[in-house]
Amino acid sequence: MKRLLSSQDNSSSRFDVMALKVFDSLFNKKRRLEPLVPKQIKMFVCGPTVYDHLHLGHARTLISYDIMARYLTARGYNVVFIVNITDIDDKIFERAKEEGMHHLELVEKYVNECKSDLSALGINTVTAFPRASEYMEELIRQVQGLLDKRYAYVSEGNIYYDTSRFADFGKLSHQTRLELKLKRLDSDPAKKNQADFVLWRSRDIEEPTWLSPFGRGRPGWHIEDTAITISNFGSQYDIHGGAEELIYPHHEAEIAQAEALTGVSPFVKYWLHTGLLYVDGRKMSKSLGNYVTVKEALKRYGSDTIRLYVASHHYRRPVNFHEEGLKKAKLGLQILEEAFQRLEDVSGEGVGRGKPLVPKFVDKYSRAFCRAMDDDFNTPAALKALTSMAKTVGKMSDYSLRNSDPSSVMEAFRVLASILGVPTQRSLRIPLKVACK
Ligand SMILES: [Zn+2]
Repeated sequence: MKRLLSSQDNSSSRFDVMALKVFDSLFNKKRRLEPLVPKQIKMFVCGPTVYDHLHLGHARTLISYDIMARYLTARGYNVVFIVNITDIDDKIFERAKEEGMHHLELVEKYVNECKSDLSALGINTVTAFPRASEYMEELIRQVQGLLDKRYAYVSEGNIYYDTSRFADFGKLSHQTRLELKLKRLDSDPAKKNQADFVLWRSRDIEEPTWLSPFGRGRPGWHIEDTAITISNFGSQYDIHGGAEELIYPHHEAEIAQAEALTGVSPFVKYWLHTGLLYVDGRKMSKSLGNYVTVKEALKRYGSDTIRLYVASHHYRRPVNFHEEGLKKAKLGLQILEEAFQRLEDVSGEGVGRGKPLVPKFVDKYSRAFCRAMDDDFNTPAALKALTSMAKTVGKMSDYSLRNSDPSSVMEAFRVLASILGVPTQRSLRIPLKVACK
């Protein structure tokens, strides 16, 4: 048992020999996770634009990274996990106008709503939620830096990134120059190249604007994120995440900005992207109106069922949202709950004669769980191992369970369950260190 689970086990060599592999979108393959600083992970995930409530699509993305952060913590990494808040965006200013609110009031309202939804979903691994507006000084410094290095140009009062100057543009989305040329992002005639994007848009109308050396205006979306990450993590960090729809142009633009600015490559060591949530074949989104808000889903199913539903799909796969899937997750949750209850009942009754032996199945399923998570966070396989452990507990007689050190079985079960973050009431808030062999 000690070999499997130990909160005091400092023999980090066991972790080091293990190959935890992640699928890196840049390399288009699984790669062994080797952070820049041993045992430290700096992870950044693109967060919400705060003008409305979160929906299940957001929940899927953020629960996936929460599970990754939990597993990495359990494997002995010190994880710094940042989720940014986009609080400068046209959608925010439009919504504030519609609702007759000051934009700062609207931002405050939805930042609070968003944080309370995430906490209700059991997402508790996020170290900080920095807001774009807090990084304006750094952002302006970066735009100036790109102008100085001639990676940016001024046209019709706006500042654009010149993608023709960055040779690696297209490397993350695996697009050639020609493909990028043909792709129409927007038909802004002021741009030199089709793929160029705005770093700073000059505005002098009454909407919220910021004063900069290049005049009054507002930043482009992509530079908001590099302002936050370079300020917090420096010129390089370990993991950048987000939904796969952000690969192009958003993440491609982040690489171009950061690497041109700092001269350090790679900006990010591993790019991990989550698959989208679909409803009848169409992406769940605000604009299509086919969404279920996190609040509605919490009311209808509860956070444990939602988390289990997310964990039952691999994070990279597209998921077609269906109520049936949530009902199935609810049944799965019951199996885990029953096993916990059973172990709790039997643990209080004391053990039989002789030294109790931890049953072999605990070792077997714990290994299977870790193997699955080491393989690009394969949560469906990990959940299967946990469920098998629960079912085995369910099938054991009271006598054999009492004689098999039920508190150790319970501990093993609790640690693994808390990596998936379910059931909230019974799993540990922060998982203990797991020694995977
Ligand atoms: Zn972003």
